[in-house]
Amino acid sequence: MQHQNNALLSWPHEVPAPVAHTLLDAHFVRALELGPPEWWQQWQTARLAEMLAWLGLKDWWNAWATSRLGPSSPIEALASLPIMAREDFRNLIASHEPEVPLEHGKLSSYSTSGSSGVPVTFWRSEMALRINSNHYWADHQRQGRDLTHRMAVITAYVNSHDGTHLTAPGELWLQPGEQMTRLISQFTIAEHAFWLSSHPAAYLATRPDLLSGVLSTIETLKIHSPSITQVLTYGQTVDPQLRERTRQVLGASIRDRYSCEEVGPMAFQCPESDDYYHCAVSNAVVEVVDPQGRHVRDGAQGNVLVTGLHQWASPTMRYDLGDIATWHARCPGCGSTVPALSRLLGRKYFLLQRPNGEWHHIRILADEWLGCAPFREYRLVQTSAMAFRAEFVLDQPITESQSQATIAMLQRLVGPEYTFELAQLSAIPWPPGRKRQEFVGLMP
Ligand SMILES: [Zn+2]
Repeated sequence: MQHQNNALLSWPHEVPAPVAHTLLDAHFVRALELGPPEWWQQWQTARLAEMLAWLGLKDWWNAWATSRLGPSSPIEALASLPIMAREDFRNLIASHEPEVPLEHGKLSSYSTSGSSGVPVTFWRSEMALRINSNHYWADHQRQGRDLTHRMAVITAYVNSHDGTHLTAPGELWLQPGEQMTRLISQFTIAEHAFWLSSHPAAYLATRPDLLSGVLSTIETLKIHSPSITQVLTYGQTVDPQLRERTRQVLGASIRDRYSCEEVGPMAFQCPESDDYYHCAVSNAVVEVVDPQGRHVRDGAQGNVLVTGLHQWASPTMRYDLGDIATWHARCPGCGSTVPALSRLLGRKYFLLQRPNGEWHHIRILADEWLGCAPFREYRLVQTSAMAFRAEFVLDQPITESQSQATIAMLQRLVGPEYTFELAQLSAIPWPPGRKRQEFVGLMP
């Protein structure tokens, strides 16, 4: 955006550093993915060795990781580390002041509830953020997108705004096409559907639940179908039915991205297959293990563990996301030599049907919960059409002011017409298995 004039006036003598970083990072990401497997293996080994050596100087880390980087290889050292549950991650971060080597840049804090209902505040460096976002830009190349075309973005990750959307005009360096962005929760699903129909775009980026609601609305209300080439999704399971409906209604293929806030991108859909996801080997080591923590065989299902290779401030090593996937040593869809995942399961859903029949997207960020009380875990359960029970775990009995703040927050984000009962528990009765959903709606 602000690079526009730079590009027209300054090339070839000057190129903005963020542009140069994006182009070079994307080039490296694609080279590792498309090159011989020795390349990404050697690169991951070097990154792991660096990070383990640095962490090995920290007492808080050594208290957690009973193994050290010894004569074994970094990959073996990783395999000997304990599996890190979300509670472990939270306790590790709380045990020390965050720090990174100087060259990683400044730190910023983030809060997330992830898919587990256990809120965590963690830190990311400027370098980790840059590499995260540049992986998404590299995915434009992987999926063959023509960025001179317009892109519509319906997201939870934008502040509330005036008008129907925010417009970012095209800029010559990286994204020549215009981007239109709007906040998911600011509009009804029907309003999103009408907006998409009247604002043609080649690409749409949004969450699967919003996409599903928009497809239903277009069909039910017989809205003119916008013609879209690709829908870029994130955050939830994409099932084959949604892919088929998206093809029928919009003429678009879904290109899903698998990520978590603590690590960033973990896998990107294969450009030649709906079924497989290429592990983002230049950002993370992804493992799939059985209940005993052993790697599953090729084609078998297990729990996903992720090790972020750039997040030194709040390190995730063998981090258990509570997600389930099937493991492939290489991509069966296109033959790429990077490991691949399929049948991703266990992500959360946030859709609420209003009394007037409209479906709304509900998202309550961890910051909202933590702004009311230092909840250790929470879950919002819909008990009838107009009533919810907020279950939570808190170290101290909840105070009157914390109760009032929590109910006010829920009324603001879910709706003032609903009633909310608070239930302080010693533990949330999560269902058996590893799936934890922090929002339990009524079954349709
Ligand atoms: Zn592939």
